[in-house]
Parts: sequence; structure tokens; C-alpha cells
Amino acid sequence: MNSLQEHPAQNFDVEAYVVDEEAVRLPRDTAADTVRPPITVENPTLRPVQNAIAMATIWIPLLGTIVAAGLALYRGVGWLEIGLCAGGFVLTTLGIEFGMHRVLAHRALETHRFIKVLFAIFGSMAAEGRILYWVASHRRHHTHSDTVYDPHSPHVRKLNGEEQKLGLVRGIWHAHVGHMLTDEITNCTLFARDVNRDPALRRVSELYELIVIAGLALPALIGLIVYGTLWGAFTCFLWGGLVRMFLVHHTTWSVASICHRFGGVRFNTGDRSRNNFWLAIPSFGSAWQNNHHAFPSSAHLGLRWWEIDLTALFCQALSSVGLAWNVRRPAPARIKKQLLSAPELASKLNASA
Ligand SMILES: [Zn+2]
Ligand SMILES: [Zn+2]
Repeated sequence: MNSLQEHPAQNFDVEAYVVDEEAVRLPRDTAADTVRPPITVENPTLRPVQNAIAMATIWIPLLGTIVAAGLALYRGVGWLEIGLCAGGFVLTTLGIEFGMHRVLAHRALETHRFIKVLFAIFGSMAAEGRILYWVASHRRHHTHSDTVYDPHSPHVRKLNGEEQKLGLVRGIWHAHVGHMLTDEITNCTLFARDVNRDPALRRVSELYELIVIAGLALPALIGLIVYGTLWGAFTCFLWGGLVRMFLVHHTTWSVASICHRFGGVRFNTGDRSRNNFWLAIPSFGSAWQNNHHAFPSSAHLGLRWWEIDLTALFCQALSSVGLAWNVRRPAPARIKKQLLSAPELASKLNASA
């Protein structure tokens, strides 16, 4: 069975990612689907490793946050800890949303190689998986949004080879964290071949565990230097490391669980993506999911003046000083063309009610 052929991308140029640029190009209609690898890989030895990483990713920051909150009630919390948490949140969210999402996964803008690598490192510190896997899974999400081949749809999933429709609670759970434990493993060499080919990015991907540890050790080191005590190092590790990680995780994961279930819709995207104003601020713009699925290669996810998109502002700031270029944005005519008509909008809202 060829899933790519069964579920052709409506709004995402799959060919840009799955066709080997160095191989002799075949015309699209004659490109042999049989030579393409499957979208997920069967690897029984990798599965337990993935599960162990997923459990650690879900539980360790949560436990750290509970300890930090308990200590804060008992002993208060210092400005240094709050600053490290907030600063780490900004850097690692930009690493995810600017570096891994808009620059690497969608190529929505161009920037210097140094900036690409730097933000790939910041994104890796968020502990949401190695960049190769993050980019591949995200492209798979766009290519197969809200079908059984989507890694984290809150509506449907594939479990033990069977299609399973998901109700409200189970759907939100699956899209938020559950998919990490049950989803098949995305084929990275298919979806993220370009990242894999870049030696520096591949190195960042390979060093994932070390970078995550460095992201935890750095605030501890700052705490040790500033306070001069091991206790200071520990509280800074908690706030700048685990609490920061917990907040970034649940913001990113909410985009998958909430923004494909609740919110406003403007565009015809062929999936269940939605826009959420309140989540757009902490997610640095990612919560404009309906806009994003309509125009995945746009560096701007907020398309109207009041659709706050901090990452787009960051892209513009880099562009204004010459550090980014080709910052892509759909033309007003294209935006207008893809808007849902009033009857389409009504039927879509009725269907999701
Ligand atoms: Zn989405
Ligand atoms: Zn995307």
C-alpha cells in the first residue's frame, strides 16, 4: 500500500522533500511510487527506546515542576530563577518555532547557516526530539493532516494497523502526549532528507541528548556562579531547566491537541486546523494553525494585523538587519482566493459542532 499516493498533499509540496535532488529526476506522473520508502518504519528494537525517551520527556519536567512549585510555596522563588525560566522559554520556543518549524521544516525564509544551526541547538534544548525526527514528523503532519497517517491528529489514529476514531478526551490526550507512546516511527530519510544531508544539522541531530543535558546544566551553572551554593545551582536547574521545559512542551503540544479541535476557521485547508488567539501568544504564533495549513510556506502565520505572531516579528527583525531574506508571505489575492465562503464556513462549523 502506498500511503503517499492514497493521501496526496493538498497544500504541501511533498515532492520537494521526498524526491532525491541528486538522483535523476523523473517526471512526477511517471515517478515510480514503488521505489519510495513507506512513510513510517517498522523497527521493533527502536520502539522500546522511543517509549523510554517519551516517558522521560513527559514525566521528568512535570515532576521537576511539581518540586519547584512546592519549594516556591515553602521558600519563595528568586528573580534569577524566574529570569532563567523566562529567558530559556523565549530562546527554546524560538528554537522550535523559528528554527525547526519555519526555517527547517517549511523553508519559509532563508537565513545564514550559523543562525540555522544556532536555533536548531536552541530547539533541541526544548527536548521535543532530535531535529531530524521533529522536522520529519512535522512534514508528515502537514502531508496527512487529520488522517490516520497524521502522527498526532486529535480526531483519528492508527493503532495496531486499525483506524480508530477518537472522541473529545481521548483525541486531545492522543494529540497532546499519547501519540509519543503509540504512533509508528516516522521515516526521517523520506521526510527530512535535506536536513539529513546537511553535515552540521545532522551533527546537531546526533548530539540531541548532549544538547538537552547542556540546556539543563547551563542554568545550574549560572545558579552556582551567582549564588555560590549547590542549593542555588539546584533551584536554577529546576526553574531554568525543568520548569522551562515543561512550559515549552505543553505550549507546543497544545497546538497539536487544541488547534486541530477548537478555534476559528477562515480558510479551506482540507483538514481540521483551527486558529486560537489565546494560544498564539505563548506559542509565538504557531496557534494560527488554520492560517498555517492554508499557507504552510509562509513565514507569517498571523495574517491580519491583530493576529499576534512573535516569530514573524522575529523574522522581520532579522530581515531588517540583513540576517534573513526571502521571508515568504502569501499575496493578498492568494489569501482572498482561499477564504471559505459563508456557506462553506457554516457547514464546517456545523460539522465540528
Ligand atoms: Zn497542524
Ligand atoms: Zn508547520
